Amino acid sequence: MRNGVIAEVEPLPEYRACGEELPFVGPGLVDLHINGYAGMDVNEEQPQTETLKRMSRAVWKEGVTAFCPTIVTNSDVQYRLMLQNITQACREDPAANAAMPGIHVEGPFISPEDGARGAHPLQHVTAPDWTMFQRWQEAAEGRIKLITLSPEWPESLSFIERCVKSGVIVSIGHTSASPRQIADAIAAGATLSTHLGNGAHLTLPRHPNYIWEQLSSDSLHACVIADGFHVPASFLNVARKTKREKLILVSDAVKYSGMEPGEYDNPLIGEVVLTSEGRLHLKRNAQLLAGSAQMLPHCIAHMVKHRICGLAEAWESASVVPSGLMGWSASQGLSAGAPADLVLFRWDGERLDIEATFKNGINVFTRK
Ligand SMILES: [Zn+2]
Repeated sequence: MRNGVIAEVEPLPEYRACGEELPFVGPGLVDLHINGYAGMDVNEEQPQTETLKRMSRAVWKEGVTAFCPTIVTNSDVQYRLMLQNITQACREDPAANAAMPGIHVEGPFISPEDGARGAHPLQHVTAPDWTMFQRWQEAAEGRIKLITLSPEWPESLSFIERCVKSGVIVSIGHTSASPRQIADAIAAGATLSTHLGNGAHLTLPRHPNYIWEQLSSDSLHACVIADGFHVPASFLNVARKTKREKLILVSDAVKYSGMEPGEYDNPLIGEVVLTSEGRLHLKRNAQLLAGSAQMLPHCIAHMVKHRICGLAEAWESASVVPSGLMGWSASQGLSAGAPADLVLFRWDGERLDIEATFKNGINVFTRK
């Protein structure tokens, strides 16, 4: 590595000669969907710039070298506040700026229907509004790079076209759109599905339905939450077979990710339980998930353990594939001239352990 980029890639001829098994090396992990980590929350009532700076560094121990802080449906005023906070963190702190190359706005232009809406508050769900979005983009100084919306709104097509023209990736999610509306959204420039298989009605017509429509589209990349709790392995398998090199792993992690198993009080949804297996559910009803608490290394391990794909492919779907969709230079992966965002890790067939993380050639994390 030289000056923050990979200078040369050269396989070692006798890598076992040193007597110790060497770790794997992979491109830094890129997570397009993070709401919080280790007690920190992008969406908290009064988000603090310092929290965001801390979070940008905290995720290094998970091998994450870039992520989209994701803000969920809220009021116009609160959106602007949260966007200003992220922007201030990026302006004041080069590390935060490098860690958060784009903001993901999830909502409020999503489906008002129960199930499809997920946990997003109904009172703030509204039709796509370009003027409102421009105000957010101003507050964010152009940092919004990804928006999740539902094309069921008549206003959505011109909105999608304007987003795409301005360089924002449009993702279909939290939707109850018809096949026609999904096809029109793709024609207007939507290129992604947000956590496909989740944020959906509990019961759907066997066909047609919006999951089949998105699975079958060759134009759409698809994000999936491969934590082992949000969708079954069979769904991940189908998503991988249909999307191939367009499959993207995301964590959709909330602030309980990276925390010890136990019970926690959440002022919004009541008490939650994080099990030793890593499942996060409501205490009053263990059937109901309270978000995701697993980061990308766990999701990669889940894909490989269930033989959905091999290690290299799973790693790519959590690194160079999302970078490529977003148009970021980290999509060059392990090649000369690419940013030296690297992760050293070990894989024993069960667990994936991050050993060290490098951001722009600097060793920012080493496991003790
Ligand atoms: Zn969601």
